[in-house]
Amino acid sequence: MTAVVEATVMQVRQLSPSFVRITFAGCASMTSHGYDQRIKILLALPGQDRPVLPLSSDWYGEWCAMPSAVRPIMRTFTIRSQDGDLVDIEFALHGDAGPASAWARAARPGSVLGIVGPTPDDDFRAVQYEPGEHDWQLFVGDDTALPAISSLLETLPASVDARVFVQIPHQRDIRELPRDVTWTVGGGLAEAVRSADLPAGTAYAWVAAEAAIVRDVRRYLCRERGWDSKAHCFSGYWKAGETE
Ligand SMILES: Cc1cc2nc3c(=O)[nH]c(=O)nc-3n(C[C@H](O)[C@H](O)[C@H](O)COP(=O)(O)OP(=O)(O)OC[C@H]3O[C@@H](n4cnc5c(N)ncnc54)[C@H](O)[C@@H]3O)c2cc1C
Repeated sequence: MTAVVEATVMQVRQLSPSFVRITFAGCASMTSHGYDQRIKILLALPGQDRPVLPLSSDWYGEWCAMPSAVRPIMRTFTIRSQDGDLVDIEFALHGDAGPASAWARAARPGSVLGIVGPTPDDDFRAVQYEPGEHDWQLFVGDDTALPAISSLLETLPASVDARVFVQIPHQRDIRELPRDVTWTVGGGLAEAVRSADLPAGTAYAWVAAEAAIVRDVRRYLCRERGWDSKAHCFSGYWKAGETE
């Protein structure tokens, strides 16, 4: 089963120029599986003060069948953390052209959105991080993947050798993480991976970012370094010039 809840903003924290972390209440019926737990958010349309939520067991079918005048806007995000009823999501802000980014910029305590997330016994597990036995792990992501990378690194056993590459829009978006990070500002993520002196031995890669960056990193690792593309996570989190 999947839970569809109306979540209410309890707290909004501006972490840095490009990131806002929002705590929502009303999420007791969902259970994050941790790591890079994917969820859907459902946003009200202009003129509505709350989204009309598809609450039947076939929430997706119901959502698809809604008339466009009421169907909420759906986007994909990551649960940054969960503490019982409370769920945190970190939004990468990229202006007001995207409804999710605009919503997060304007969010205040009391604002509401819908969240579609996993229940404890869920078929909708939606965790892409699945490492095996390897000598080291590689994490590569842009601003949209930084919430997931932060969560992944917080639970990574200290014994795991990790190399981490993150691209952020602004120098002041650099943050403390549990591992050393190679930061790039405003571009250059794939090039940073390409020019790095990566360790020898077997590796598991988790790569999530804008689609063209993911493609470049995947080509480098799989074509030039011979890694098996099916054995890693390569995930286009968004595509330049296209809404989700
Ligand atoms: C599994 C998964 C997990 C994700 N987790 C998160 C998360 O935790 N936090 C998060 O912030 N995002 C996350 N994303 C990315 C997020 O879904 C996209 O950035 C989405 O496009 C945002 O929706 P929007 O309504 O703001 O913009 P849209 O309406 O989808 O797009 C509007 C325009 O903005 C562009 N755009 C989208 N994102 C960005 C960006 N970051 N920078 C610059 N331009 C952009 C699009 O190309 C388009 O031209 C995740 C995506 C996936 C697939």
